[in-house]
Amino acid sequence: MTGSPHHTLPASTPSDLTPQLLPIPAFADNYIWMLHDGRAAWVVDPGDAKPVLAALQAHGLQLAGILVTHHHADHVGGLSGLRPHLQGPVYGPAREHIPGPITPLHDGDSINVLGLRFRVIDVPGHTAGHIAYVQQGAAAPLLFCGDTLFSAGCGRLFEGTPAQMAASLARLAAGPDDTQVCCTHEYTLSNLRFAAAVEPDNRDIAQHTLDCQALRQAGRPTLPSTLALEKLINPFLRCQQPAVVAAAQRMGPLNDAGDSVAVLAALREWKNRF
Ligand code: ZN
Ligand code: FE
Repeated sequence: MTGSPHHTLPASTPSDLTPQLLPIPAFADNYIWMLHDGRAAWVVDPGDAKPVLAALQAHGLQLAGILVTHHHADHVGGLSGLRPHLQGPVYGPAREHIPGPITPLHDGDSINVLGLRFRVIDVPGHTAGHIAYVQQGAAAPLLFCGDTLFSAGCGRLFEGTPAQMAASLARLAAGPDDTQVCCTHEYTLSNLRFAAAVEPDNRDIAQHTLDCQALRQAGRPTLPSTLALEKLINPFLRCQQPAVVAAAQRMGPLNDAGDSVAVLAALREWKNRF
């Protein structure tokens, strides 16, 4: 909220206070998330400048800031093309090389985006310095988690260990159930095929597959998801469920079936070959 309590807002303010969330499709299966208040816009992980510039123009918006989660080209490739239009900061992970200049962020930092407060958390695993942005003080907080948590899946372990990814996913999953999971890729249906192979008897996976097939046929994104839903359908958040442990064991003997890091490692290996 902005403004003093003595300042009365007009009775109707259609584009007021609550920024709108917009997924901008990019490349084959990326989303560049945009938050805008009808005047100013922020984008997350702009891998390509063109679709962002088109969205700014279509909605009559000024680019006020950029958030970056990690260094991969499909998340930062649009920075140079957007900088001439940018009127604010580029925030990014302090521990990764992002084409600069950027304002480097560390775990625990807090930033303001269109009046919304976001906390930065370290989520290593997909890359070594990957960060996520978690909205504070909202009933259904936004979570920009890049390529760490996907709907029904998680990112590949390019630079991190299974233990790091397990800890990062646990940090993300600790948020409120209504958290809006804004990940960067439309991988949901292929992830759900894997999830169904891990847990053939999971009815939530079967139902969500039908829901997502209908969304995709209508040309709509399957995102954002919610943490409540992910806890029901995402095998990488279910490494302590007996059915998931048993499935991981069928892929190869685990040293310690009670070790959810070993389960996650086995699932990730399986998914890489799936
Ligand atoms: Zn990536
Ligand atoms: Fe990516």
